[in-house]
Amino acid sequence: MTESSPAQTKRGIEWGHLLTLIFVVGPFLALTFGITQLWNREVNARDLVICGAFYVLSALGITIGFHRLVTHRSFVTFWPIRALFLVLGSLAVEGSAVYWVATHLEHHAKSDREGDPHSPREGFWHAHIGWMLGAYSAKPEVYARHLEQDRLVQIISRTFAVWVAVSLALPAVLDGWLSAGSPGGFGTGFWHGFLWGGLVRVCLTHHITWSVNSICHTFGQRPFAATRDTSRNNLLVGILAMGEGWHNNHHAFPSAAYHGFTWWQIDVSAYVIRLLKLLRLASKVQMPGLEAQERLRTRVRTLPQAAEDQVSTVAS
Ligand SMILES: [Zn+2]
Ligand SMILES: [Zn+2]
Repeated sequence: MTESSPAQTKRGIEWGHLLTLIFVVGPFLALTFGITQLWNREVNARDLVICGAFYVLSALGITIGFHRLVTHRSFVTFWPIRALFLVLGSLAVEGSAVYWVATHLEHHAKSDREGDPHSPREGFWHAHIGWMLGAYSAKPEVYARHLEQDRLVQIISRTFAVWVAVSLALPAVLDGWLSAGSPGGFGTGFWHGFLWGGLVRVCLTHHITWSVNSICHTFGQRPFAATRDTSRNNLLVGILAMGEGWHNNHHAFPSAAYHGFTWWQIDVSAYVIRLLKLLRLASKVQMPGLEAQERLRTRVRTLPQAAEDQVSTVAS
């Protein structure tokens, strides 16, 4: 491999940022347009079902595949299931698995301290979206070294552009095919599927995932206040983000496969992992015992200020 010159690196960063900008702004514009269509009743139930189905699949790909399976190694499964969830995660258009893992592990390593890629200590907007548009770039050579020999993850990451194309084309073709017999035919269905199952769904997946970084480090409860960060449990994000909103639980026990720790902490990703376990398709499912949870919760009551002090010292 040859070393790139500073000019080449700069150009590489510029292209990378331009692509990020396109994939951040494009789906958002589509959402705005989609809302006007919804207003004018130019959307049918089929479009919305396809949008919802692709949302659930790609969001589960992120939460189960990218996050719990590959980043935190919270459980073990067979390679075809691993491949399925990694492909589904790639359909969310949040970067390749290797890039996603590296960014997320850097967040865990430096949570709300200097170097955290997306801490709301630098502003809510920065945590939600701004960090992607700045100079930050992921460091797989530091934070995703455990994936260097993982052929499956490497192959699916290197073919990320293909999955982006599939992510936009598949709902379009599906909607077109299902609409073939109705007025407007394949063409109208294709366009509706591209807009709703593709762009609008990508926009929703983006903002709900990013809410974990912004909302779940700003609003909500901190039952495990001893964690050295501002992570919070948020019911709304918990429901919408397939269980990822129980973010204080997650920062307290990062390798736990289930982020909802009680029956009322809705965690759809955990239900899917439980089902896989029941079907003997998942093993070594990590979960802290009740005693370990209680020990950390109790530390909360004796050291709440200490944890907050640590964060504010770094921020100042
Ligand atoms: Zn976090
Ligand atoms: Zn995590």
